Amino acid sequence: MSHVMNTYARLPVAFTRGNGAWLTGDDGHEYLDALAGIAVNGLGHGHPKLTAALVEQVGRLIHVSNIYRISEQEQLADRICALTGLDEVFFANSGSEANEGALKLARMYGHKHGNAEAQTIVMEHAWHGRTLATLAATGSEKARKGFDPLPSGFIRVPYNDLAAVEKAAAADPRVQAIWLEVLQGEGGIRMADRGYLRDLRRLCDERGWLLMVDEVQCGIARTGKWFGYQWADIRPDVVTLAKGLGSGVPIGAVVAGGRAAGTLGPGNHGTTFGGSPLACRAGLETLRIIEEENLLANAEAMGQRIRDGFAAALQGIAGVVSIRGEGLMIGIELDRPCGDLVSQALASRLLINVTQDRVIRLVPPLVINAREADEIVARLAPLVRSFVGVPAPQAA
Ligand SMILES: *Cc1c(COP(=O)(O)O)cnc(C)c1O
Repeated sequence: MSHVMNTYARLPVAFTRGNGAWLTGDDGHEYLDALAGIAVNGLGHGHPKLTAALVEQVGRLIHVSNIYRISEQEQLADRICALTGLDEVFFANSGSEANEGALKLARMYGHKHGNAEAQTIVMEHAWHGRTLATLAATGSEKARKGFDPLPSGFIRVPYNDLAAVEKAAAADPRVQAIWLEVLQGEGGIRMADRGYLRDLRRLCDERGWLLMVDEVQCGIARTGKWFGYQWADIRPDVVTLAKGLGSGVPIGAVVAGGRAAGTLGPGNHGTTFGGSPLACRAGLETLRIIEEENLLANAEAMGQRIRDGFAAALQGIAGVVSIRGEGLMIGIELDRPCGDLVSQALASRLLINVTQDRVIRLVPPLVINAREADEIVARLAPLVRSFVGVPAPQAA
């Protein structure tokens, strides 16, 4: 029996090395990676430029402490602020931890504005993490079950529904922030309407609230823009980042600007590991390589190619509810639970994931090429067809 705590129903494969969008299993097979460690390995596996930079960094400096200035951290903060148009960054080690920081910021913001019971409006189907506060904000009852008492201070409303936000706000004068993913990941690859996001921006400006955006999954070029909210041409007050930022080296970030800037000061928040020279170097190199290799455009083009490929291969099949997403954050919703497709795909040497029981999630590396994009469709479409009971078309 394994001594690893049993918190994951793990698939029966381990990987020994990787190259781009491909992973080598300990069974000797090559697997096409359409999951990228859940939207983490944007540069794929074993990227030579990233590897060289990290090797150099490990040999020079891994960790010092936030008691000192950290040049890599300052450089990465500059870069992130240039990309977001925001003002300051706190570095953490994961998405949950970045989100905890954002929540603490929202509460401190409330306190500083005479609101000692600041409430944050959050969304149904939201996913913000597994720590107690981020779990309380998360929409999944399954994830929350058994962990009461959870921190309070959240008002949950239906996603993409402005009237619900206005109604909740009218009912509670303590509201201080709205927090959402502009493209829900775990929640089933659902994108908020651009008009709705602009309305939230306007509402927050009218009321002096913080608009906080969880870009942990959809940020860092995943959707074909640096950040998902850029599709709506808005600028949030707080943005959290993690997954794709360090290409697998753990890093999270709370980015604040506008009325949120300057909320947290010395002694309000901290971390031992966050913002280390190694993690920030990984972030810097990741952003540099994304730019150098034109991966925003690639994510958009390859995402479109994959969605078009599935639209053609699954055309007219009743069991396929929708094929959606933005860039390389793709969902294929079926009319029935389809978790079994994960192991079927594994047997076809393709790594995928299913979320919300019925939504196939594809978040391949940003470096994927056209041949690999087509191969994802070629391996998965026949499995989907037979899963919903439609025979594969005869080869011409
Ligand atoms: C994955 C995820 C998180 C949690 O990040 P961890 O690094 O697992 O703590 C938070 N928000 C969103 C949108 C995510 O996709």
